[in-house]
Amino acid sequence: MAAEPQTIFALASAPGRAGIAVVRVSGPRAGHAVLALAPDLGSLPLPRLATRAVLYAPESISASGDRDKIDEALVLWFPGPASFTGEDVAEFHIHGGHAVLDSLITSLSGLEGLTPAGPGEFSRRAFENGKMDLTAVEAIADLVDAETSAQRRQALAQMGGALAARYDGWRERLVKSMAFAEASIDFAEEDIPDDLARQSIEALKALADEIDLHLADDGIGERIRDGFRIALTGAPNVGKSSLLNALAKRDVAIVSDIAGTTRDVIEVPLDLGGYAATLVDTAGLRDSDDAIEQEGVRRARDQAAAADLRLHLFEPGGAPPDVDADEGTLLVQNKSDLVTEDAEAPKGVIRISARTGNGLSILIGEMTARIREQVSHRAAASAPLTRARHRTALEECRAALRRAIASAGAGADEEMMAEDMRVAAQALGRITGRVDVEELLDRIFRDFCIGK
Ligand code: GDP
Repeated sequence: MAAEPQTIFALASAPGRAGIAVVRVSGPRAGHAVLALAPDLGSLPLPRLATRAVLYAPESISASGDRDKIDEALVLWFPGPASFTGEDVAEFHIHGGHAVLDSLITSLSGLEGLTPAGPGEFSRRAFENGKMDLTAVEAIADLVDAETSAQRRQALAQMGGALAARYDGWRERLVKSMAFAEASIDFAEEDIPDDLARQSIEALKALADEIDLHLADDGIGERIRDGFRIALTGAPNVGKSSLLNALAKRDVAIVSDIAGTTRDVIEVPLDLGGYAATLVDTAGLRDSDDAIEQEGVRRARDQAAAADLRLHLFEPGGAPPDVDADEGTLLVQNKSDLVTEDAEAPKGVIRISARTGNGLSILIGEMTARIREQVSHRAAASAPLTRARHRTALEECRAALRRAIASAGAGADEEMMAEDMRVAAQALGRITGRVDVEELLDRIFRDFCIGK
């Protein structure tokens, strides 16, 4: 018999002083922990109902009736399986002070069968108990990390199963086709109608096309999650670091009169209309003999090339920009405070002053519009993929599908085709964490009528 799992506990709210702190306990001894700490309750609180309870340190309760009060708390009781982890879960909402928390944690540690939770252990148990698939687990992490509204919305959709539904749906379709393919091997004698085999190939092709479309989204979901990259480019001393500082409203880059002082890549996170973006300042783009500066220039070119948007800066009276404005490049003339005459900004150029702040809101508006455009172009499909992990698995799945389709075309090598389909299904299953292809096949074969 499997050993009883440990009952785990951890502070679920942020560490530090706060109005309240929440300590979560999960496992078979969670109920015991509630009664050991709150003996006056007499029995477990009603499920999911906040119940006031006085907590005492169990080790302090003496025969004479003396006891050490930890806190007056709220206790919540979630009997499994209708809980976050699927196990019995209890939550203690205590006053969020160090001494209170320490005392509760010490008491929980002293109870038999209880142990502090490792990182991600509550979510891991939720996954292992079938409460969540892996994409939902990842979405919880994304939601906790979300800093902008687009990140939050995307994480919530994923947590709600938007990706799981898509990938599991594909996997089910694929496994059905596998069932046909395997049947035609196992029952080769018994005439599987030709058009059944043909339908199965058509289904594979349709699936491969859908995966193609999903993969061809230019990583928009990953951008929403990780932030769009915006590179500042332009000759030394045009004011890139100054603009970065002005946008970040804090001093992160060194601003100096000596050309070429920004030798490394400096990043500032921005929230552009709900989209997370990272503004990257790069060393001035100019040729130099200085080895460190050359390295800076090389990195600058890489960063600029990889960015989703480039702000190319130049200054009045200086060299005209040597790049053209396009959908991925904004031309920005800095130091507008030095322009004395009333001359209009050149066409297609945004004129700003990093020093006075003039034009910055127009620039921010334009940056936001460009990012919105990229999102609306590419995210036509709902629920874009959000992680490199998913992309890798999908690419593997697609490659295997294409191989399977090719073997079908080349005189139907059914064994190879079945094997490739299996690889494809496993790759899909890895995304959500459902890898039990055999079990699914069994289920499908059970109500398969051929050869019964
Ligand atoms: P970078 O090499 O492109 O990063 O340029 P910096 O940000 O280091 O700026 C170079 C010089 O231009 C500094 O002396 C800044 O104070 C100055 N500067 C930057 N922006 C402006 C501006 O809008 N107006 C004026 N007058 N000077 C500026």
